[in-house]
Amino acid sequence: MANPLTPDVLVDPVELTRALVDIESVSRNEAVIAGHVEDVLRKTPHLSVDRLGNTVMARTDLGRDQRVVLAGHLDTVPLNNNFPSTVVDDLIYGCGTSDMKSGVALALHLAATLPDPGYDITYLFYEAEEIESKFNGLALVAEARPEWLIADFAVLLEPTYGVVEAGCQGTLRALVRTRGRRAHTARAWRGVNAIHAAGEILRRLQDYRPRTVTIDGCTYREGLNAVRISGGVAGNVVPDECVVEVNLRFAPDRTEKQALEHVHEVLDGFEVELTDSAAGALPGLTAAPAREFLAAVGAEPAAKLGWTDVARFAALGIPALNYGPGDPLLAHAPDEHVEIGKIRDGAATLHRWLASD
Ligand SMILES: [Zn+2]
Repeated sequence: MANPLTPDVLVDPVELTRALVDIESVSRNEAVIAGHVEDVLRKTPHLSVDRLGNTVMARTDLGRDQRVVLAGHLDTVPLNNNFPSTVVDDLIYGCGTSDMKSGVALALHLAATLPDPGYDITYLFYEAEEIESKFNGLALVAEARPEWLIADFAVLLEPTYGVVEAGCQGTLRALVRTRGRRAHTARAWRGVNAIHAAGEILRRLQDYRPRTVTIDGCTYREGLNAVRISGGVAGNVVPDECVVEVNLRFAPDRTEKQALEHVHEVLDGFEVELTDSAAGALPGLTAAPAREFLAAVGAEPAAKLGWTDVARFAALGIPALNYGPGDPLLAHAPDEHVEIGKIRDGAATLHRWLASD
C-alpha cells in the first residue's frame, strides 16, 4: 500500500490526523503505521531515525543546549464501529481521534516541518500503550535503548483538551485480610467470623479523610478505596477468611514505599499484603523548557490524577507532562472524536514554543 502520509498531508495537522486514524493500528497491530511513520521520517533530511520493534525514534542533532522529547503512542483500543474516520462540521470522528492520533499528528507534523527548532527534539512514536505494560514501547525503549529517552523535558501528547496536565498520581493495590475460625453456623459460638471482623476495615475506610496536595500550582486529590471484597465458604459455615482489596491513589510527593507505609498506618492491626504499585511523577514545572512551554500555552496547569507514561520519564529524572488536543473524556468511547480547532490550536502552540526565532 502506498504511504498515505504524503508531503501534502504532513503540512496540515488536521489532514494528518485523519490519515493516521485511517491506518488501523489496534495494539499489537502497529507494524503498518510504524512503517509509514518511519518511512516519512527517514526521508526528512534534518532527522536521524531508528526503530525498535514498532517504536520509531527520530531526533535532531543541532547542538542545542537542551533537548526535549515529544512522544505519542501509535496504538488504539479495539475498533467499535468507528473506523475509518468521518467528519461532521468541526469534528473528526473515529477510533483514536482523541486518544491519541491527533496528538501523534502534531508531533509528526513538527518532525516533518521544523528543521531548526530552538531545542534539539527527540520524537518518539511508540507501540502498545493501551495494553499490558510488558508490551509498552516506552518501557521497552527504557530497557533496550535508554539513551533515546535522555532529555531535559518531555511532553506526551495524550488527550488533555489543550490543557497542561502535569505529573501524575501514583497507584497502589493491597489485600487486607482478616482471619477467623470455621464452625457450623448452627454452633457459631465455636467459630470466629472473619467477615464480621472486616467491618472495622470498612469503617476506617469510610472515615478516611484523603489529603489534597498542591505542588508547583497543581492540586492532587488522593483517595483510598475498597475496590473488591471476598469471603465466605458455604451457606452454613462461619467463614475463616475475608479479604478486602484496597486501592490508594497517592500524590507524587509520596514515594511508593511511603504510600505503603501510609496504608499500614491507616489499617494498623490488620494483615496488609501489597499486590502492585506504580510511582507517581512530580510535575517538574520549574525546568526552563517547561516554563517556556507553559508561557506558550498561556493557561494554568492542572494536576494529572490518573497514572500515565509521564511516570516512566520521571523515573529517569526527566520532568514530563501531558498536553494534547483530544478530550480525555472521549478516549475509548464509541463516539470518540476531536475538534479540528483544538488540533490547529495545539499545532500553533507547539510552533510558538519550539520555533527558534
Ligand atoms: Zn492514550
